[in-house]
Amino acid sequence: MTTGTIRGHRALQQKPASLAGFGTPLLEQRTKNRIDHILKDRLDRARVSTRADRSAVRTLPEKQSQGSDEHAFSGTRLTGNRREAGARLPEEILDESKVPDTHGSERCGHGKEYVSVTASNKAMRDLDVTFLGTGTSHGIPVIGCQCRVCSSSDPRDKRLRTAAILRTGEAVLQIDTPPDFRTQCLREAITRIDAVIYTHSHTDHILGFDDLRRFCELEKKNMPIYAAPRTLTDLKRVFAYAFGEEEPPLNYVRPSAVPVEGAFPLGGLDILPVDLPHGRMVTTGLVFSSGGHRKLAYFTDCQAVPPAAEEAARGVDVLVLDALRHASHSTHMSLSEAIEAAHRIRARRTYLIHMCHDLGHAETERNLPDGIRLAYDGLQISI
Ligand SMILES: [Zn+2]
Ligand SMILES: [Zn+2]
Ligand SMILES: [Zn+2]
Repeated sequence: MTTGTIRGHRALQQKPASLAGFGTPLLEQRTKNRIDHILKDRLDRARVSTRADRSAVRTLPEKQSQGSDEHAFSGTRLTGNRREAGARLPEEILDESKVPDTHGSERCGHGKEYVSVTASNKAMRDLDVTFLGTGTSHGIPVIGCQCRVCSSSDPRDKRLRTAAILRTGEAVLQIDTPPDFRTQCLREAITRIDAVIYTHSHTDHILGFDDLRRFCELEKKNMPIYAAPRTLTDLKRVFAYAFGEEEPPLNYVRPSAVPVEGAFPLGGLDILPVDLPHGRMVTTGLVFSSGGHRKLAYFTDCQAVPPAAEEAARGVDVLVLDALRHASHSTHMSLSEAIEAAHRIRARRTYLIHMCHDLGHAETERNLPDGIRLAYDGLQISI
């Protein structure tokens, strides 16, 4: 026992020395690879604005909550997190007001690169979306898999489990907390979350729940948890310690459950939940609107988009849609099914998520129709 402890201790002491001179070049190479791929990606898509629009991540003026929802997010500085991150890798920041409308009458022809920015578009530019993870439940690379995508050096083929974070002028809203949630928060320098919305209770969407404790601790507050009653029931079962009767200590996760049973306002947005079939489960799709304008529909983990959900999302600025792989699947849409659904919904732009290792980023993107893209981890768009 004693010998083992000493061995372990010595090994720990030796570890920094043996890693010295190894970790740094590897990180630099990874950073270089990421930059190379992002730059190449920008060149690939001449018709899309790939200019890093720094104004899109500017610090918005501090403002008081208008009391539009139950949880007042007074004084939220939505982009403070990014400023705190300091120097960062170049990111793709798409300004949706400059993206060609691929379905509507404003579709751009040759020589006319972008949709003009109307006054109303400017007024409604108040939603930033960051894709924290875009992979299926295994994550990519899959443990022990040597396939082409899992061994790819393209950073866009490294997919953590699916989640996103939304920043409005009033609040920072997290969608799902996958097992990779802590890693995603550190990567994106997230220091504030005002509420979490859960789509469903599969483990790849909830197992980072306990890491919400840090945000409760930072803000000395309970965390509002918005979810359908069926999802809340599962969350309360899996994380019974957190939902108990007794008030937990400040450094524990302190959830405040808010059942979602219809449209609700949150963080300056109107959010419409829609039911999506997901095998034996029903997932909550989310349609985010501002001033009656549909800005974002987030439909993860669905085998289809039923007519009611399709209608709720019709003409939305940005559609985020489940697309697992080429072959059909009992709980997820295939790539071709997702493309068909996207065409029916007629979003200005569609990003596909929850991909498995059948879909390499670069090769899949080459064959996608106009207006439909694969999302990737760290992608940020402004709507
Ligand atoms: Zn999932
Ligand atoms: Zn693989
Ligand atoms: Zn699922």
